[in-house]
Amino acid sequence: MEPIVIDGSVGEGGGQILRMAVSAAALLSRPIRVVNVRAKRNPPGLRPQHLVAVRGVAELTGGRVEGLRVGSMEVAFYPSAPRSGRFVVDAGTAGSTTLMLQSLLPVTAFATGPVELELRGGTNNPMAPPVEYLNWVLMPALRRMGVRAEIELVRRGFYPRGGGIVRARVEPVRRLRPIDVETGRVVRAKVFAYSCNLPEHIVERMARRASEGLKRLKVPEVAVETEALLSPHPKCSLDPGTGVIVVLELDNGLAMGFDSLGERGVPAERVADRAVEECARQLRTGAPVDSHLGDQLVIWVALADGRSTYRVTELTGHTETAVFIAERVIGARFDVESLGDRGARITCDGIGFSR
Ligand code: ATP
Repeated sequence: MEPIVIDGSVGEGGGQILRMAVSAAALLSRPIRVVNVRAKRNPPGLRPQHLVAVRGVAELTGGRVEGLRVGSMEVAFYPSAPRSGRFVVDAGTAGSTTLMLQSLLPVTAFATGPVELELRGGTNNPMAPPVEYLNWVLMPALRRMGVRAEIELVRRGFYPRGGGIVRARVEPVRRLRPIDVETGRVVRAKVFAYSCNLPEHIVERMARRASEGLKRLKVPEVAVETEALLSPHPKCSLDPGTGVIVVLELDNGLAMGFDSLGERGVPAERVADRAVEECARQLRTGAPVDSHLGDQLVIWVALADGRSTYRVTELTGHTETAVFIAERVIGARFDVESLGDRGARITCDGIGFSR
């Protein structure tokens, strides 16, 4: 079969196109060639964390990859049969384990049997979902669609050395149900502030500031949790790091999430304010799906059996790019309608994929 050619410079032009294209190709057993890989990033081409995600998918499907080296601008992938069993994928650096999972989860959800993944790298990275986001925001939505997966944080990993460990256990599913999420009222909120090898007052200050911010937004029932780990606690990262995530639980059973990572020189209060400001901005739209979940759901609704509709707080470049790949590689039909300050409505006729 001739490979489908995907131009990696369209839309966002980042690593997401490659990760999603390879994942979709593995599911549909269709060869794919991605050209202009990460053309809009500096430096362009494959970085170690993308390389590792592609290699992981190839291993899971017994596939062959060409062009798999750092800096490569062209990657071809020839998938073979999906496998089940236990796999370890190690970024070797702080490469994001959650972005690896973004490629691996759809493939494992349709594997021939249960899959156990051990991913090593960063667990709380900039420009990637923190592992808490997967558990508290992405997974509730995917479970609604029928995905059966457990994600466990074994050890945190921060930049630069990573060394974090995330385990995922995934049971195969025959078909995915579509979702319909157009409205949602906030019923309770959770603030979780975490740190490794830093003074405990940091998480306490972040948690207090974030919960005060949420109360000002009139969010009901704010539960606060902190976790300040020190070496040699087994869950403590190699490098110091900290962050906070705000989760809004909705009456439709789903959730929205807004996180912020600590930075050297940035006061804990400012770190918390960033998460709350983003929460306030998106909450104003009244849409029940946050902007990150908006792009992360695209591959799943494309595979689901029937029509999904969801209202997202904003239409990001990542979402538009994901829709492009899902149409081009999976063959699902999307309708994306901007609703102005009420966000955007995404409707998808999924292909009803089954193995
Ligand atoms: P590149 O390295 O080329 O910039 P990348 O591999 O980092 O690309 P992106 O293309 O930027 O990946 O995609 C990042 C993904 O992570 C998107 O799915 C986005 O929604 C998700 N993401 C980024 N930040 C967050 C966050 N704070 N919370 C949840 N999800 C996030």
